[in-house]
Amino acid sequence: MNRCKIGSVTVTRIPEREPLREPMFAFFPDLTEELVRANEHWLAPDHYHPGSRSMLLHFHTWLVQTEHHSILVDTCNGNHKPRPGLAMSDALNTPFLERLREAGVAPEEVDFVMCTHLHPDHVGWNTRLENGRWVPTFPNAKYLMSRIEHDIWAERASDTARPQWSRNVYQDSVLPVVEKGMAVMVHGTHSVDDCFTIHPAPGHTPGTCRADLESGGEGAIFCGDIIHTPLQVPYWQQTSRTCEDKRQAARSRHELLSACAERRALLMPMHFGPPYVARINASTHGFSLDFEGQP
Ligand SMILES: [Zn+2]
Repeated sequence: MNRCKIGSVTVTRIPEREPLREPMFAFFPDLTEELVRANEHWLAPDHYHPGSRSMLLHFHTWLVQTEHHSILVDTCNGNHKPRPGLAMSDALNTPFLERLREAGVAPEEVDFVMCTHLHPDHVGWNTRLENGRWVPTFPNAKYLMSRIEHDIWAERASDTARPQWSRNVYQDSVLPVVEKGMAVMVHGTHSVDDCFTIHPAPGHTPGTCRADLESGGEGAIFCGDIIHTPLQVPYWQQTSRTCEDKRQAARSRHELLSACAERRALLMPMHFGPPYVARINASTHGFSLDFEGQP
């Protein structure tokens, strides 16, 4: 369990499943051997496994406790979710809720769940299985999601040409909270607390958002899949094959890194290895990162 303070706000990392080895060159089709070799010394062993030429994808939720609210940013893969053909998310059984309780928060005490986007590894714990039905895991929460993002996945869910696991995500992890009237559809910039603001950052998916936290002169930015690996800080043009609009994804990544550098805000990604967060520096040579100030 890792924890840090941003002004008066407490941020805690709630890990879910064990890290996944994802073949690096398949995930980033534009990467060259030379580029990875030149960066291996700082990427390995926490972010890259040279033997299998794989990046290490971690999975966690960020618990944000302001003076007034408990907010979860993204909810990982969830338990028992049927994801045929997507092994990383399929039928998991992890003690995620126990870890959340250990961090001091019961599911009933969560006020907001913010979904950066609606991919399976970011919305899984939105719901849980109860007597054969998917019910909201956080019964008193409002679930914040982009209107654009919601509408697109609602439409795709009935497209039989799409893989079953992809269609299941909307049906079992998004629709149940919408049907219960617990979803808040966000359009444009949206403030949740006096210190937590959602901003559109499209590219990875059409409605991807990030959340900017500011408190007591300090800041942090929760960025979902705008960035997957620390290598994308110096090489921000590198875009994964999972990004739908590659040019827009790179633009949103540049904006994110610029905002982190200007405000000295901590970058809070969803998939980095330890120490999980980073400071971003901007210079005429581009962006660099250092792993200090971590929780
Ligand atoms: Zn992801």
